[in-house]
Amino acid sequence: MKQVARQARAEGRSTGFVPTMGALHAGHLSLVHTALAECQPVIASIFVNPTQFGPTEDFQKYPRTFEADGKKLEEAGVDYLFAPDSSEIYPPGFRTSVNVEGLSDRLDGRSRPGHFRAVATIVLKLLEIVQPQKAFFGRKDAQQARIIRQMARDLHLDSEIVVCPIIREPDGLAMSSRNAYLQPDERRAATILFRALDGARISISRGERDALRLTAAMREMIRSEPLAELDYAELVDAETLEPVTRLRGVCLALLAVRIGAVRLIDNLLIEERDGSLLATL
Ligand code: AMP
Repeated sequence: MKQVARQARAEGRSTGFVPTMGALHAGHLSLVHTALAECQPVIASIFVNPTQFGPTEDFQKYPRTFEADGKKLEEAGVDYLFAPDSSEIYPPGFRTSVNVEGLSDRLDGRSRPGHFRAVATIVLKLLEIVQPQKAFFGRKDAQQARIIRQMARDLHLDSEIVVCPIIREPDGLAMSSRNAYLQPDERRAATILFRALDGARISISRGERDALRLTAAMREMIRSEPLAELDYAELVDAETLEPVTRLRGVCLALLAVRIGAVRLIDNLLIEERDGSLLATL
């Protein structure tokens, strides 16, 4: 992979990179399509990174559909698929990690200790191997995208970090490999994340600016769904990820909710433009 990447760089080509954990869906493929429109060659990776799963999390049973994934990437027009073995990525004696201080221990980082250190480390390793001009990430994982952007800036990485929109099912549920775990009644209940964020979006469009009232309404909505258990509902500054009391600048409404055994996340992007607020699901 390094050889291919070096050659592309030496030829002055603009490599695009889409890192994934496989079990590919239309959300992943939207990143691939954006990469293909902007870069050549495009490299995708599939690596279910063991270190970013907590001891009680779903590493063993994480969906693995390698054959189908390869076909989807090939059909989309991806030039290379990088699917390293865990033993190559973490050989015996591996010791180094990178931690983006402050942004990594809040929100998902509080519920999943060590998760973002592991994510930042694997993404840095993959970026070092692939050396892309641009690397494409989904806003579905907004905190992850924010942390990776910070890491790229802090470590003077050559790669530009591009954050792409959230792709949703027709009923609004954000696409996720973990949606495959949902039982039919849980799948119906899972739309509560979208409905709560959409409620916030509508309130904002009607002029609501008070973050406490917005988060209270989202929490109440989540509580109204018997199969849902709220982890967090927060309204934060998109740069610092610190809670805000009033909406201004760029903010994120972030939700993490457990539906049965499945933990789902989703978010709403709120941007101030010419004095009015634009909220995007
Ligand atoms: P994963 O395979 O879950 O690690 O995701 C790989 C990349 O795809 C990450 O940058 C995710 O943010 C992105 N992604 C996952 N789901 C979606 C979605 N529904 N819409 C857009 N991007 C997504």
